[in-house]
Amino acid sequence: MTSEQRAAALEAIAAEVRVCDRCRLARTRTKAVPGEGSPDTEVVFVGEGPGQNEDRQGRPFVGAAGTLLEELLRMIGWPRGDVFITNVVKCRPPDNRDPEPDEIAACAPYLQRQLEVLDPAVVVTLGRFSLQAFMPGDRISRVHGTERPIDPSTGARAAVGYAMYHPAAALRQGALKETMQRDTAALPEVLIRARAGRSRPSAPLPAATEPASPTAATAGQPEDDPMTIPDDQIGLF
Ligand code: URA
Ligand code: SF4
Repeated sequence: MTSEQRAAALEAIAAEVRVCDRCRLARTRTKAVPGEGSPDTEVVFVGEGPGQNEDRQGRPFVGAAGTLLEELLRMIGWPRGDVFITNVVKCRPPDNRDPEPDEIAACAPYLQRQLEVLDPAVVVTLGRFSLQAFMPGDRISRVHGTERPIDPSTGARAAVGYAMYHPAAALRQGALKETMQRDTAALPEVLIRARAGRSRPSAPLPAATEPASPTAATAGQPEDDPMTIPDDQIGLF
């Protein structure tokens, strides 16, 4: 798929989400929050569900948790617009309660389709609901800051999952912020390893002279499947 085709496919999914009534959250939401970001990205962040600010604006991570997420991304030189940010459920659970299993199941096809379009190298899970969706059975306190392959049935056909705490947890519990900073600082290296895992089996490890940027090197060119990035271009930007 070209960049334009991916952008159009993501917008088609977003248009469906905005009018979706597949679960009870449709009745209490103000705006659905499909997610947003670069159609060329190699990194997708998946949170839990919209909060009050997100519900009002129809955009993900625009409240206090979003400010912290942006601060973390700035630390590694990744502009928010270079990644894709979405949630397990696209509509706000009333009073920010936890999403119910049937709501998560009803909404899952949207996330799956977004991941099929983006074909990311890394899926960053924020918080335990997102962790359960990609790495079921793992405990966040044990696995945060670690990566593992994720099931292609999630829609991400060749990605590693990277578990992080939810930024809102760090806002409540100050000590977690430092943990999140450490986990974020490792992300460029996680991306480089994930790329290496996706390229041809004989591919040499990329030279990491510059921190890896989350947007595919060949984005915008006619044939910009990330799988076809020449080895000598990986990690150069
Ligand atoms: N928390 C989330 O999990 N997602 C958002 O979009 C905002 C806050
Ligand atoms: Fe539809 Fe998901 Fe919103 Fe439920 S949470 S109404 S499934 S978009």
